[in-house]
Amino acid sequence: MTDLNTELNTPAITEIPNELNAQTPTMAFAQLQLAAPLARAVAEMGYESMTPIQAQAIPVVITGKDVMGAAQTGTGKTAAFSLPLLHRLMKHENSSTSPARHPVRALVLLPTRELADQVAQQVKLYAKYTNLRSAVVFGGMDMKPQTLELKKGVEILVATPGRLLDHIEAKNAVLNQVEYVVLDEADRMLDIGFLPDLQRILSYLPKQRTTLLFSATFSPKSSVWPAAICKTR
Ligand code: AMP
Repeated sequence: MTDLNTELNTPAITEIPNELNAQTPTMAFAQLQLAAPLARAVAEMGYESMTPIQAQAIPVVITGKDVMGAAQTGTGKTAAFSLPLLHRLMKHENSSTSPARHPVRALVLLPTRELADQVAQQVKLYAKYTNLRSAVVFGGMDMKPQTLELKKGVEILVATPGRLLDHIEAKNAVLNQVEYVVLDEADRMLDIGFLPDLQRILSYLPKQRTTLLFSATFSPKSSVWPAAICKTR
């Protein structure tokens, strides 16, 4: 297995380690020039300055680069990836009722239903003044309501890996127009043994895509991640 640092030497991935987070100067959201509907939602939520992970990640993600970020829950990492993703997806925003006009453009994968639900709720709040649609699918629930929502079309799909594979197999989720994939709580996904599921999911995505990976730790085990990201390029 290749060493993580060697793998990270690829210019395609911007690494955001924990130590840097603490030193990042705070920056106001107003400096970002987010699309107006997103800036409005952020202001309404009372966010003024960015957290360290946001100040590090948002300017990079907004340019469309791959990112590997070390961040724990509670650091503001959901906004760190969802705000720049929503900003980039604004070019696809439309009010059509046709599902074909709302293909999945961003896929956010998390290890547990609680985390998936939490992230999906935040994404909905950030996107509330846009026409971008989001949905969440996780196991332990009836597939039917999730299927109905998927069939209507959603730009941002938040999911746990196993249930997403069920929907892919049932042809409820079509991922051939995905432009962004977020692997959140990546270390926990490895611990739970989701790597084979994730590899299968990644194989359904277009080769040209942006990958954002967030993990509380980057243990030696996580050296599989850059390979998983770069392999399909
Ligand atoms: P997260 O780490 O993404 O789960 O976020 C933790 C909490 O911090 C959530 O309740 C967010 O709404 C809140 N939050 C995220 N970013 C900011 C910010 N820049 N200013 C104030 N609160 C924030």
